[in-house]
Amino acid sequence: MNLFNKKTNALKPYLVSERSFDDEDDWLILDWNESTYRIDTPLKERLIDFINKGQLNLYGDVECELLRKKIHHILRIDESSVTFFNGSDSALNICFESILEIGDEVLTIEPEYSQVDTFIKMKGGVKKSFLLKSIDKPSIDELNRSLKNKKVFYFSNPNNPIGFLFSKNEIEDMLMRNPSVMFFVDEAYYEFSGSHVIDLISKYSNLIIFRTFSKAFGLAGIRLGYVVSAKENISMINKVRNGKEVSTIAQLAAITALDNYSLLENRIKEIISTRNWFVDELSKLLNFEFFQSSANFLLIKHENFEEIISKLRESKILVRDRSSMHLLNNCFRITIGKKSEMERVLAVLKHF
Ligand code: PMP
Repeated sequence: MNLFNKKTNALKPYLVSERSFDDEDDWLILDWNESTYRIDTPLKERLIDFINKGQLNLYGDVECELLRKKIHHILRIDESSVTFFNGSDSALNICFESILEIGDEVLTIEPEYSQVDTFIKMKGGVKKSFLLKSIDKPSIDELNRSLKNKKVFYFSNPNNPIGFLFSKNEIEDMLMRNPSVMFFVDEAYYEFSGSHVIDLISKYSNLIIFRTFSKAFGLAGIRLGYVVSAKENISMINKVRNGKEVSTIAQLAAITALDNYSLLENRIKEIISTRNWFVDELSKLLNFEFFQSSANFLLIKHENFEEIISKLRESKILVRDRSSMHLLNNCFRITIGKKSEMERVLAVLKHF
């Protein structure tokens, strides 16, 4: 007997690309926009030291006090304007839960990071898609028109999977014109774009920003995300959030990564410069179309995309097929890794 509710029964599972390989070390994993850099020595040492003490019998600090102080110190975000989650996915889930009533409409751009569809549907929300007409940033006027009667507008900035970026002015224009819409701005890849909207939280109470340690920080495995918003919004979200969900190890890893922030800044510069070099190289190849990206990935279009994905796989390189998404026929997405890794990719692409 199926005892699951109608919403769960109606849900389509979120599909990730297949990762069935024996030895991860042999593979170049470029399908999910993670970092290809292993963790740095200071972090490794700190974690080993902590494990040796064996203090995993206790819950983590539910207030994430030290982490909040570090975020303030390093990223200049007010301590009362931030709260932490077990990944930004969990943050999105809880924020949808805190805001949506059954039947509320949520605007998303299509194509977009589709994991949020599950969160919206499970809260009884109704997803309304703003379908892009071309693989390009949509017009703010058109978006403003589509925002009528919506409760939430979710978008990733830079957009995943295309990589385009709304400017701070464009976002402010929408915030100002739509005070009854809550804006969920997902800045999962902001470190690679050089642009963010943190300073708008003091001006607009209809803005919630989502951040993660999974991408630029290279810590997807520890699961840590955070939300930045006006103090009053954070107090509301904290009523729903379960403080125990942020593990001691996640807090420790994030604190140590922030203590060594200059290492990270250098790595971000390196990835951006590799992205620019890779784009230059790709533009020398015929038949490849690609889209300007402000993130650590690139969306590429080629009529033989299936053969390309399979040849890359034969060379133990994993990329993400995005061809079933709106407008993205013949497209795949590739994470930008180290230069030597992208040289390996180019060597395969050159055959097409
Ligand atoms: N938002 C976007 C736009 C993403 O691409 C991803 C990861 N694919 C996430 C959120 C999820 O991040 P986290 O690992 O923090 O849950």
